[in-house]
Amino acid sequence: MPTRPAIEEEFTTKKKRAQRILRTLRKLYPKAECALTYRDPFQLLIATILSAQSTDVTINKVTPILFKKYKTPKALADAPAQDVEKVIHATGFFRQKTKSIQGTARDIATNHGGEVPNTMEELVELRGVARKTANVVLGTGFGLNEGVVVDTHIGRLATRLGLTWSSKNDKDAVKIERDLMELYPRKEWTYLGHAIIFHGRAVCSARNPACTSCSIATNCPTAGSFEAD
Ligand code: SF4
Repeated sequence: MPTRPAIEEEFTTKKKRAQRILRTLRKLYPKAECALTYRDPFQLLIATILSAQSTDVTINKVTPILFKKYKTPKALADAPAQDVEKVIHATGFFRQKTKSIQGTARDIATNHGGEVPNTMEELVELRGVARKTANVVLGTGFGLNEGVVVDTHIGRLATRLGLTWSSKNDKDAVKIERDLMELYPRKEWTYLGHAIIFHGRAVCSARNPACTSCSIATNCPTAGSFEAD
């Protein structure tokens, strides 16, 4: 195992290391992108809400059926909840998710003329939408770098890679996002989230990170020191 960078480091040192990590990610995953299938920001928003505690593969099987049945926010909002629950059952937590997606669809139909808003302030006002989901919609659906998506996978890797001042036990998504935004230029924020997810899936899994074959190991302060999260 190569020498690891120190966990404690100056901001400028960390920033340079962060850039090296990004360069490697760009080489490894030049086409890293959102794995959810969607046709427009509304479909992406609903798919992202459904993806909590589920897999992209499952969501990509369910959403074509959902959007064929309910083509507009109003159609989804007005549908009987039991019918929606049946369609999204496989995504897990289907009752709560039905409330969330119908609430969001209702807000969009009623307050935004049926169009998904494209600002953070308006998105987080929608029922069932928190900052993480809003970042997915803004970055991937609208091409706007307003923040960095931080889910459990990105939080795990950011902590292992020492790209946050948040501790392992802290896992504060807002703090991790703020740290990543400080380390990386705005234009990289959306790509960074996708690339980190790709690396988590390919190499740095939760239970079994493959440090010995990881191309980022020389820039990772926790390389080879895995402890289960
Ligand atoms: S696989 Fe190991 S070396 Fe690579 S990023 Fe994860 S913890 Fe660091």
